[in-house]
Amino acid sequence: MDFSLTFQIEGLAIRGRLVRLSTALERVLLPHDYPAPVAEIMAETVTLAATLGSALKYDGVFGLQTQSDGPVNLMVSDVTSNGAIRGYARFDDEKIKLLDNSAGAPVPRLLGAGYMAFSVDQGPHTERYQGISELDGATLADCAHHYFRNSEQLESAIWLGADTGKNQSGAGAVSGAIMIQRMPKSGPQSDKNIEDEEDGWRRAVAILSSLKRDELLSNKLSAEDLLYRLYNEDGVRIFEKHELFQQCRCSEEKVIRTIKSFPVEEITDDDGNAHVTCEFCKQVYSFNHNEIKSIISA
Ligand SMILES: [Zn+2]
Repeated sequence: MDFSLTFQIEGLAIRGRLVRLSTALERVLLPHDYPAPVAEIMAETVTLAATLGSALKYDGVFGLQTQSDGPVNLMVSDVTSNGAIRGYARFDDEKIKLLDNSAGAPVPRLLGAGYMAFSVDQGPHTERYQGISELDGATLADCAHHYFRNSEQLESAIWLGADTGKNQSGAGAVSGAIMIQRMPKSGPQSDKNIEDEEDGWRRAVAILSSLKRDELLSNKLSAEDLLYRLYNEDGVRIFEKHELFQQCRCSEEKVIRTIKSFPVEEITDDDGNAHVTCEFCKQVYSFNHNEIKSIISA
């Protein structure tokens, strides 16, 4: 099962989330047949979105987007409060072919300079939240840390890993993430308390950084066992799991709305037919010239 799980490190006032993806990730990647380096950073992006987005406590959509000047110029991923994930990347195939895959950190090499944006959309009658941060770091997790430090988020640390294998299609892809967050202090604090909390936080972060990618991604080690292995000493309490799955939110109705918003000659071929492909799931919506006529006149 693909899931997000919430936990608490009892002695330390730290909350955390663990995410593991396999089938859902495969289903996000498969329709696109990405080159290996694109599949890998896309897998991390989807996992980061799933980790940050699974904190939603209300009906809504959490979105993560990167825009940059490198070979991978756009990545989009979102997750609904029900656990539906999706995403896609845009890239320059020629630039990807020219990459030296043995050298350099992934973000500067694949994404280049640009920014990362986070959004929370809770429906038509609510205000949309958006946070933006420069792509500053060697890895996507570093960029997320940069965002955490520069926003009014809780103090947070994240460990992110993905393995899309040698198989370019994305079959067999797995990923995982663990994020820990320091809870706001409550009540009066003595100097001793504050010092202990600082120490506790530093220790929890150090333990998280000692995690090996194989442990995070191994299907032989359950999420519960992994968390006990890491944080048993301070006491770890595990809350319920929430399932994550791939599901796109495109529909014929939405495509029709899009068609109506464009000049007809821009979307139809020489015969007056239109084929609209969803960028997320690659589903093709086709309309013949009669259907297009009635859409436009409706
Ligand atoms: Zn779709």
